[in-house]
Parts: sequence; structure tokens; C-alpha cells
Amino acid sequence: AKAAGRNRFQRYTRQMSAAAEERVLLERYLRHAIEFKELEVHFQAKVDSGSGQLVGAEALARWHSPALGMVAPIRFIPIAEESGLIVALGELILEQTCQQLQQWRTTGFDVPCVSVNVSVKQLELADFPHHLAALLHRYQLPASALELEITESVIMAVDNAIDTLNAIRALGVKLSIDDFGTGYSSLAYLKQLPVQVLKIDRAFVLGIGNGQDNEAIIRTIIGLATSLGLSTVAEGVELQEQIDFLYAEGCQTIQGYFYSKPLNPIAFQQQWRSLNPA
Ligand code: C2E
Ligand code: CA
Ligand code: CA
Ligand code: CA
Repeated sequence: AKAAGRNRFQRYTRQMSAAAEERVLLERYLRHAIEFKELEVHFQAKVDSGSGQLVGAEALARWHSPALGMVAPIRFIPIAEESGLIVALGELILEQTCQQLQQWRTTGFDVPCVSVNVSVKQLELADFPHHLAALLHRYQLPASALELEITESVIMAVDNAIDTLNAIRALGVKLSIDDFGTGYSSLAYLKQLPVQVLKIDRAFVLGIGNGQDNEAIIRTIIGLATSLGLSTVAEGVELQEQIDFLYAEGCQTIQGYFYSKPLNPIAFQQQWRSLNPA
């Protein structure tokens, strides 16, 4: 029994060190990938729940490493957060998004509004709002073309978050709370935030049709949004039944595989150009 215990322990430490090694390796590759701009941005459509029209998109980071192959965000984003690389990564994605929006505009493809995920470490940079203004200027984009997605936990974690968010809002850039309902922000707190959009987490959407709890939560979020004058986006929508429920409850915007997976810029333009209003 002792020997078995020892073996188990050795196996455990070996696994631990394998995981730690992989982490170090990934971080090293990621640093290189950011420096040499190996990361790309893909776009996932946001669609009006009533008309099916394109109303915007979310920019999502994609990493195809020559050495490692495709690495999913769920693997590299946490490492980027822990190592601080998320600032440079977020920067790269923001810039690539602006560049792409400008390029689309020159061809007459005006995606109304693209949202970019922003990390707490970016928001903590004192000059983030100035930097944002400079980017919009450099790529000649109206502020309304851009939205930032921020999680509740991020907002709670940043000192002076409200000041920073107000400065961003003053530029005319929209703000949304991502994965809404999974954090703990109070109603009173939410009322103070200069946000325009609540994104309903996929976990709740998954529960539509599978019992009352998730449906009740979604109704509550939409009711809350309505009473505060905010709009709602539901993410992870895969089924017609989910769209029917969300539309009936007053959720304006749908994002999910039902309409489209995240696509590279060329594929996104091909799929959505003809359906674009104007
Ligand atoms: P998120 O911000 O909640 O993004 C939505 C995720 O759900 C994306 O995963 C998207 O591909 C996926 N998704 C969309 N529709 C569906 C659907 O119908 N079904 C299913 N099963 N999934 C769907 P992705 O691209 O793997 O990104 C995962 C997370 O990584 C994101 O979650 C976000 O938190 C983070 N992330 C991605 N890109 C960036 C970035 O540029 N900066 C930062 N800070 N985080 C990022
Ligand atoms: Ca997001
Ligand atoms: Ca989300
Ligand atoms: Ca989510």
C-alpha cells in the first residue's frame, strides 16, 4: 500500500511538472507569437433577433502556431492574463480589428459595430482611453464602430474603473458587460456604470427549454436591462427554439452558431456583405 501511495505521488508530481512545463512553453511561444503578429482576429456575427439582419460582430483572437498548431483561446488567454502578455495581446487584437474595419469600409462594407474583449490589465493602464482615441483617429473610424466587452469581475477589480469607463464612454465607444449573470454585481452598482449592453451568458441560453431556472434568469436580465435602458445580446445561440424564446422575451440581438461561427475576415465579408443594410 505504501508503494502504491508513493507511485501515486510520483505520478502526481510528474503530471504537475508536465503541466507546469507546458505552461512555460506556451507562454514562451505566445510571447513570440504576439511579437511577430502570428495572432489573428476572427469575427462572429451579431444578428437582430427579429429581422435576421447583421447588426455587428465580436472580434475573437485566434492563434495558429507553426509549432503547436491551433491553440484555443481557453488555453492561451488564461496564460496571457497571468503573465501580463494580455496587454500586448489585447492591443494587437484591438489594432487588427480597427485596421480590418477601415479596410472593409474602403470597400463599402460597413459593419455597424464590432466589439472587442478587454482585460482588466488593459483597463488599468492610465492612458487606455487616450490610446483608444488615437486608434480611432489613426484608422479614421467613428467611435460608434467600436464596442468594448468587459466582464463584471474586471469592473469590480479595477480601482477607478468607473472613471476609466466614463472616459471611454465620453469618446462615444460603447461598453457591454460580458457573461452577464455569472458575476455578482449589484443592481445599485450596475446603475452607476456607463454601459449600454448586457451580454447574456451562454450557460443560461443552453438552459432554454430545459427547466424553468435559466429561463427565469434570462427574463430577469432582460427586465433589468429594459428598466435601465440597456440592450441585450444573447451569446451561444445554436437553436431556433432559443431564438424564439429570446425574441419573445425582448432580447434584441443574437450571437451564436445558429447564424455563424467566428469567421476569418474574408469569409465574414463573403457571408455578410450582401445581407448588410445599405
Ligand atoms: P467570450 O468572450 O464569452 O466569447 C464567446 C465564445 O463563445 C467564443 O469562444 C465563441 O467562439 C464561442 N461561441 C460563440 N457562439 C457559440 C455557440 O453557438 N456555441 C458554442 N459552443 N460556442 C460559441 P472563443 O473564441 O473560443 O473564446 C473563448 C474566450 O476567450 C472568450 O469568451 C473570451 O473570454 C476570450 N477571448 C477570446 N479572444 C479574446 C481577446 O482578444 N481578448 C481577451 N481578453 N479575451 C479573449
Ligand atoms: Ca466576449
Ligand atoms: Ca461572453
Ligand atoms: Ca461566455
